Amino acid sequence: MITLDEYPLSDFLALIPEESDRHLKKTIVVGNRTYYIKVATDRILTLKKSQVCACCDLKGTTVLIQDNTNGPHFNLYADSGVLMTADHIKPRSLDGASHHTNYQTLCANCNQLKSNMDIDAQQLRMLRTLYLQHLSMGKGKKKAKHLAKQEFAKLQKQKENRFSVEERIRE
Ligand SMILES: [Zn+2]
Repeated sequence: MITLDEYPLSDFLALIPEESDRHLKKTIVVGNRTYYIKVATDRILTLKKSQVCACCDLKGTTVLIQDNTNGPHFNLYADSGVLMTADHIKPRSLDGASHHTNYQTLCANCNQLKSNMDIDAQQLRMLRTLYLQHLSMGKGKKKAKHLAKQEFAKLQKQKENRFSVEERIRE
């Protein structure tokens, strides 16, 4: 990934339309350079709606124009250098729609932790808390993630059992 330019966040937010259109491009001028960049993809619209990670509250503050093999595009980063991403709330691998209602802003770290789990932001925060606990106890990232997911699954199971007991009592 090559960084070509930085672009003001306020200008970035102002040029994004309301409706998604994955083909719409606009001419972006930075100094004496001109770019022709997509401005209405679902990813960009999600980042416009919120620049804050729905899980850990990390805030995207810096817009960069970057290029890999796909041509110049916008990326939003936090001060710490973490990339802000558009996450499929219900994962694509589980038939989650590629529609703006199924997207939320997550930082790359939280997105990676969530991977293809079908969980909401509150559940993801719980998973992250467990993960950070293991990290703070000196576990490696991979091990911490594994243990956190195991504990999380157990907690979810307990919750389900509790609900079914409550339902039975009500009946
Ligand atoms: Zn996050």
